Amino acid sequence: MKDPLLARRAMVEEQIAARGIKDQRVLNAFLEVPRHRFVEEYLKYKAYDDYPLSIGYGQTISQPYMVAIMTEALAPKPMDRILEIGTGSGYQAAVLSRLCSTVYSLERISTLASRARKVHDELGYFNIHIRVGDGTLGLPQEAPYDGIIVTAGAPHVPGALIEQLRDEGRLLIPVGDQSIQDLKRYTKTGEGVREESLGGCRFVKLIGKNGWSD
Ligand code: SAM
Repeated sequence: MKDPLLARRAMVEEQIAARGIKDQRVLNAFLEVPRHRFVEEYLKYKAYDDYPLSIGYGQTISQPYMVAIMTEALAPKPMDRILEIGTGSGYQAAVLSRLCSTVYSLERISTLASRARKVHDELGYFNIHIRVGDGTLGLPQEAPYDGIIVTAGAPHVPGALIEQLRDEGRLLIPVGDQSIQDLKRYTKTGEGVREESLGGCRFVKLIGKNGWSD
């Protein structure tokens, strides 16, 4: 594997900034977080490449650019409390942890949750709290959240996630069928919920009570 810092700089310049991600705080977070720590040993040489990678259990660490699009669209502020559904490798949570005060992250596969927790501890990212459970129900005991980000594809928007948003809170969620989804952003306002479509994407299934069945 080439020097991780050089690989990270190239990833940020060529895959993320070059495609229009402008928020300097977001770009700095991608420069800081060592993505190679979130992939298995045999795939480390591909950690900074322009595509998703397997993390086992039929799951993936998302393409860096997709993580960047979602992070910028969520617009996390320094004092924000964010909920992520779908910890996976823990990489998205790590990026968010550099941009806000607290990240809660829910994962249904306990081995992935433990693995991600270990990497976060080793890196000293102590503002991330990983829980094992069905993220389609949200995490009501820590609500409300300034932002919720779902990193798996849902058949529809779980109502619990809208309920657990603070006023002006944003929910980012891929919604569609099992092969292709539309990335949606919902913003809670005094008058209701504003919906925006941010483009096509492809995620693994969101499995749970208010998602797909296993
Ligand atoms: N954000 C991850 C990362 O940075 O590596 C990538 C997430 S991966 C594309 C989707 C993850 O969502 C998988 O780890 C999967 O087990 C998890 N997942 C699917 N349905 C879930 C649910 N209802 N609750 C929690 N996690 C779920």
